Amino acid sequence: MAAPYPIIRLKKGKTASLERRHPWLFSGALAEGQQLPKDGSLVHVAGPDGQICATAYYNEGSIALRILDFAESTIDQDFVNRRIQSAIDQRYRMRVLEVTDTNAFRLIHGEADGFPGLIVDYYNGLVVLQFHTWGAFQLKDLIVKGIEESDIQVDSVILKSADTLPRKYAEQAPDQLLKGDADMYINENGCQFKVEPLMGQKTGFFLDQRDNRYLLTQYAEGRKVLNTFCYTGGFSVFALMAGAEKVVSIDSSASAMEMTEHNISLNGDFGEHSELLCGDAFDYLTESDETFDLIVLDPPAFAKSRKKSNNALRAYKRLNALAMKKLNPGGILFTFSCSQVIDSRLFEDAVYSAAVEVKRPMNILHRLSQAPCHPHNIFVPESEYLKGLVLEMTS
Ligand code: SAH
Repeated sequence: MAAPYPIIRLKKGKTASLERRHPWLFSGALAEGQQLPKDGSLVHVAGPDGQICATAYYNEGSIALRILDFAESTIDQDFVNRRIQSAIDQRYRMRVLEVTDTNAFRLIHGEADGFPGLIVDYYNGLVVLQFHTWGAFQLKDLIVKGIEESDIQVDSVILKSADTLPRKYAEQAPDQLLKGDADMYINENGCQFKVEPLMGQKTGFFLDQRDNRYLLTQYAEGRKVLNTFCYTGGFSVFALMAGAEKVVSIDSSASAMEMTEHNISLNGDFGEHSELLCGDAFDYLTESDETFDLIVLDPPAFAKSRKKSNNALRAYKRLNALAMKKLNPGGILFTFSCSQVIDSRLFEDAVYSAAVEVKRPMNILHRLSQAPCHPHNIFVPESEYLKGLVLEMTS
């Protein structure tokens, strides 16, 4: 028997997104005059005919319901365990672990894995949970237990949600080590990195760029590389390991640069081949006279909301134009956007405008996205957020 969750009724004519299996329902879809439960409560969702058609959690705000199951279900340990094991099995099928000699991956990617509002990253036995909604946070104990009861090795667990939950809940969900050790060494396609989730941004490492860092190795040998917005040095390490002549890494965060230095040293003694700069990437691209054979642009999201997307597009155009001017003939540009509200078409338009402005002939060699352990639910366009292009400057 399903649990007796409060029932939320939908308005007539407001069920189209449910029919398209989009797991969000906006507040305008709820029938008027009904009592709404506490923020974060589990609920059953009834269509205008009164039939229960989904199990969700209620969220104060414009996305009022996030659906956990398109059926009348009970969200108990058994339900959560099945979902978690199914996400893990999918990563095994992807063969992230054994084929590529990699022991870090995204274990749960929100809506694509049936857990709206939840991100879980796995770092060689260290699990980092990042909650984005109060409703998802209510499931924390079930989720931690579910991961521990799955067939994946769990040594350490970290909660890292203070920046992603609504501010009013941040105090009730402080970042903390729940079990084990707070840092971990990982292996990604033969390169080593140290990950310190409690110190770093997001969950500590940008796993979404894994396949793109690997692709860089095809182009880096013998080249002079600039890695802007390098964070903990992911692209820099892969470029150096692939035999780059020189890699200049730049980030505005001093602690990120310390981690970059550490991560580079974990992989070998690169001496003069590696140069580290702490500073603003725009300033460097504007003021430096150096030119490069390969440039990586992986900035933070320039647009956090649709309202900001025009400013963001201008910033992408400016950044890409600055980089194109610094490319030697035959140079390669790896350029990315992780802004959810800028889709791949808009991003490509911004890069196109940059090429027009600098009057450089550029060919697109690759169109890139997030690594497949960050699956994109076809019904949720919002779950594809990382876009990238590899361009070659032709003569
Ligand atoms: N490429 C990285 C991830 C980049 S995250 C990887 O593969 O791991 C974005 C980074 O941009 C952050 O480390 C942040 O500190 C840095 N950053 C933000 N604004 C910046 C600026 N104006 N100049 C240089 N770095 C900046």
